[in-house]
Amino acid sequence: MDNLFFVEVKCERTNRIFYARYDYAADDRWVLTRGVTSIPAGQHVGGGSSSVDISNSRTGPQYKCPYCGNTDFVKHGRCGRLTCLRSGQNHFRCAYCNVEGELSGGVITDYQHVTKGHGQA
Ligand SMILES: [Zn+2]
Ligand SMILES: [Zn+2]
Repeated sequence: MDNLFFVEVKCERTNRIFYARYDYAADDRWVLTRGVTSIPAGQHVGGGSSSVDISNSRTGPQYKCPYCGNTDFVKHGRCGRLTCLRSGQNHFRCAYCNVEGELSGGVITDYQHVTKGHGQA
């Protein structure tokens, strides 16, 4: 079964793209485990894209933006893309649209068109 997936995130400070990795944990929840600059070969990420429900996910202690160290990210409602964010910050700038805004207070509950796969932790 698929036990991991990656979502594309853009770094707010460097405008560089990285990938946030989620692993399916033993307690049946997706865990945001780490940020990587490329999807490692051998993770067998492929196949069709699908949506994934992350309403019950949690963030692991090792997760951070690989470029600037931010430990959170925000989904821009208008474009639906992700930008890294300093934890606890309420003001954000979408690194894709270069639009600024305030956080709505909502949480990200799902991703569309995610490519899932399987691999080792
Ligand atoms: Zn960053
Ligand atoms: Zn945007």
